Amino acid sequence: MTSLLLKNGTVYDSAQGIKGQKLDVSVQDDIIVEVAQNIDSRDFDQVIDLTDKVVAPGLIDLHCHVFHGFNSSGVHPDVAGVGSGVTTVVDGGSAGHSNFGGFPAYIIPNSKTRVLCMVHISSTGLSVMPELTTIENIDVDQTARVVQENYPLARGIKIRAVGPTTETIGVEIVRLAKQAAINSKSQLMVHIGELYHEGKTLTQELLPLLTHGDILTHTFTPNPGKIIDSDGKVLSEVFDAQERGVTLDTAFGRYNFSFDIAKTALDQGLVPNTISTDMTIPGRQQSAHSMTEMLTRFLALGFGLADVIKMTTENSAIALNMLDSIGTLMVGKEADISVLSIVDGDWHVSDVKGNILPTNKAIIPYITIRSGDVITPDFGPHPWGFLPTQNMS
Ligand SMILES: [Zn+2]
Repeated sequence: MTSLLLKNGTVYDSAQGIKGQKLDVSVQDDIIVEVAQNIDSRDFDQVIDLTDKVVAPGLIDLHCHVFHGFNSSGVHPDVAGVGSGVTTVVDGGSAGHSNFGGFPAYIIPNSKTRVLCMVHISSTGLSVMPELTTIENIDVDQTARVVQENYPLARGIKIRAVGPTTETIGVEIVRLAKQAAINSKSQLMVHIGELYHEGKTLTQELLPLLTHGDILTHTFTPNPGKIIDSDGKVLSEVFDAQERGVTLDTAFGRYNFSFDIAKTALDQGLVPNTISTDMTIPGRQQSAHSMTEMLTRFLALGFGLADVIKMTTENSAIALNMLDSIGTLMVGKEADISVLSIVDGDWHVSDVKGNILPTNKAIIPYITIRSGDVITPDFGPHPWGFLPTQNMS
């Protein structure tokens, strides 16, 4: 039995209505046992003073690529995860039914980070690109079987509604992916951004197929299948989908996050549910950088600290239908905790177009607690660490 006390931190846990209160959190082995003021530190094996630090439920990255060693761009789960202040990563369909076995056999046993997966509707996932060139690349029954056999590791089906098949086959590929989700009683995650013929984008065509629990990722993509129409209005289908319980995720990726689209959508009252990275090896080096930098981008867009934490904890857990086990510091839950530093300064964050927003607060990881183990973050994605670019002018 080992006991850990996190002392004097400022706690945010939207699932419990805690919004920036000074509270202590105690952990016994891998379980949260108390969240309260002034817990006596005498009986604990380890006490960490977190004065001036933010204590949040373990951050959840709802979309990243961690099929490390299998796909050339797959980052190690602990690089995207515990090394970056994140305790749960969701692989966004790096593997399909034919190679999914790599996750339970090799990725999971070598990861401290909690890894969950979407199984790509393409048989080989993203190990061959483009992943869908003909309808022969799709096997609905096999994909549904792999999701069911690997539950709860496998959470649902992924499709990238982009690429050559969307021109030849169109929305039918999304319908097949949705069928696999229905057959496996799971959820569908759809990557949007494609143009389609006759004035309607594929995004407009596929949105009505999504039902409660499905996830739309890349909500703020600037690409042709974006959520804004030619008159600058957010598509009514997007509001309708969110109303039905579709999660609007904002994965950054290398090409799929625009501050202009974000501002246009926010101005019209569309608030996304979750924040994620779409992390890959090049994405870490060149674009998204880190989960905490994603949070900083949303601060720059005008969101508050409580909002961005909620969007990466409670909301992401709800999106996975897992709020009973992750996304909160509720007593009795597994001790997944992200401790963050808020650093004042003159910072710049950028979108995929190279547009820049200033912000005077940056969020970086301080320590990560995963199932009770205290982990120090790695150095970070930039030559100088986790902080965003500093304004030199
Ligand atoms: Zn992705």
